[in-house]
Amino acid sequence: MIAKDPYLQRYVQEFTEINKGKAFYTSLDGLGDFIFEDYERAVTAENPEQRQPLLDIVVVGGGPTGVEVAGALAEMKKYVIPKDYGDIGGDNIKIHLINGDQRLLNSMSPQASKKAEDFLRDLGVQIWPEKVVTDYDGKIVTISDGSTIRTDKVIWAAGVTGNRIEGLPTAAYVRGNRLKVNEFNLIEGTDNVFALGDIAFQTADPAYPSGHPQVAQAALQQAKCLADNLKRWHSNRAPKPFRYRDKGMMATIGKSRALTWAGRVRLTGFIAWLAWLFVHIFYLIGFKNRVAVLLQWIWNYVFSKRGARLITEREWRLRG
Ligand SMILES: Cc1cc2nc3c(=O)[nH]c(=O)nc-3n(C[C@H](O)[C@H](O)[C@H](O)COP(=O)(O)OP(=O)(O)OC[C@H]3O[C@@H](n4cnc5c(N)ncnc54)[C@H](O)[C@@H]3O)c2cc1C
Repeated sequence: MIAKDPYLQRYVQEFTEINKGKAFYTSLDGLGDFIFEDYERAVTAENPEQRQPLLDIVVVGGGPTGVEVAGALAEMKKYVIPKDYGDIGGDNIKIHLINGDQRLLNSMSPQASKKAEDFLRDLGVQIWPEKVVTDYDGKIVTISDGSTIRTDKVIWAAGVTGNRIEGLPTAAYVRGNRLKVNEFNLIEGTDNVFALGDIAFQTADPAYPSGHPQVAQAALQQAKCLADNLKRWHSNRAPKPFRYRDKGMMATIGKSRALTWAGRVRLTGFIAWLAWLFVHIFYLIGFKNRVAVLLQWIWNYVFSKRGARLITEREWRLRG
């Protein structure tokens, strides 16, 4: 079990508990070290049974995070591994993407989901649709249909769980420890406690009867709406109910492909990736930052520069 390994514990910042407290890797910090360490071990593994679980990676969750991570790992296996780990060979690494839903990126249209699936399959990712992970003992992932995958690495991208706070009404908690709020983000069963963003579960918005997506825009817009309503209450004016304005969604897949879904603008492939690049540069603060990041990205893109592959967090002393 990953959580019991004192060395790996240093990397794991957060655990998702499922089935009797088994732990999953849920933080991207140090993930590179974690993967490359296993590949160092794989080079000297004695037999294929020992080597394969060190190589294969399971990503759980087919939302934007899972899709982006699976795409990045697939590119790593295609471009980085053959150069840096010639003995392993990228083709021997399997990247699995397990998704409880029938389609990937289910908050986008079915066409976008299909494109994402095509892009990932093209990169060699094995997609498991409509499958739920029910257990992981640190060595074997068990899937809802009874099948299993042996792997030393599971990346959890299937959602976040809120922290419970003592004193709040237990009846207000719903799935994922989100807090049920009314149209003004007031927590159900309280008269002066508000919840915003990922933790808030609001069904009063007619366009989002199953709650708002857990994305940064929803959090920002709710914060703005509440700030405005607090001023309104203060000056005895009626508050305005929150209505989410969807500004669209983007997801990159690998080095130069993406999906951009914003109103009528629906882009896929390289052009969507350029749009993703533009939006991310545009939202950086300051002209100097924008130019610096853009130049750095162009440099990295053209030269596929990845920096020195140093494993920096390892305790190198011999155990004993
Ligand atoms: C890997 C990943 C990728 C994502 N990519 C995107 C993306 O590309 N686009 C997008 O729009 N959204 C993305 N999201 C979602 C986005 O990050 C969230 O929707 C957004 O951050 C929600 O904002 P928030 O303020 O509600 O919560 P958070 O940003 O999570 O902030 C909550 C804060 O509260 C702190 N906290 C928690 N409990 C306590 C406590 N008891 N006391 C004090 N502090 C506490 C936490 O430490 C944290 O700092 C991504 C999320 C993840 C995990």
